[in-house]
Amino acid sequence: MESFANQRGFPVIQRVIAVVRDNAASLSDIDGAIGDGDHGVNMSKGFGMAADRLTDASCSLSEGLAVIGSVLLTEIGGAMGPLYGTFFRAMARESRDAADIDARVFESMMQKAQESVVSLGNAQVGDKTMLDTLAAAVEAFRASRRDGLGFADALCVMMKAAEEGKDSTRELVARLGRSSRLGERSRGLLDAGAVSCWLILTAMGQSMMDLLV
Ligand code: ADP
Ligand code: MG
Repeated sequence: MESFANQRGFPVIQRVIAVVRDNAASLSDIDGAIGDGDHGVNMSKGFGMAADRLTDASCSLSEGLAVIGSVLLTEIGGAMGPLYGTFFRAMARESRDAADIDARVFESMMQKAQESVVSLGNAQVGDKTMLDTLAAAVEAFRASRRDGLGFADALCVMMKAAEEGKDSTRELVARLGRSSRLGERSRGLLDAGAVSCWLILTAMGQSMMDLLV
């Protein structure tokens, strides 16, 4: 299939919440190496609060994304509450009126998520942030569609690019956020936000592929 019903998208929300909670400790460890070690704790707290509010399995993809976005924006501090809050709200807004989620809708969801993260945080590719993962994923998904790939294949390409974007942060020097204070010493280690963004996009991609079969 080339689309799935927005109304049947709750498994995507559950997978995204689960991956953040399951990886809380390692995300905080990664943040601890060049930041303050709170990334996994913060994210897991926010996604846990969202899970508590999302008990109705008939909730649509867009409704679930909106709840995650609002909780992160209003309840979670640090750099990532607002940044991921705006990311999920943009995805919710962009899909809200779509009965079916197809590659065109998902492309615009990812595009808007990227735009809102950039307009809030002013990051550029290469600054060693979540944007290094996100921008690579969005560009790969767009290019796959341009090349005529179907939704599932484009999701595969997107996930691979997200992983490469995440890995690219290892050799970068942080130019934004807390870890930028380390300068050269931030080189050689992954960025925590780039890792969480890769986990989230992979959970989305895999669970969407499950809904497409
Ligand atoms: P804090 O830096 O407040 O402790 P977190 O630890 O939750 O917040 O998140 C740190 C992550 O935030 C970094 O790994 C980086 O990916 C991301 N980040 C920081 N500043 C920005 C920004 N301006 N734009 C995009 N991402 C950013
Ligand atoms: Mg931190």
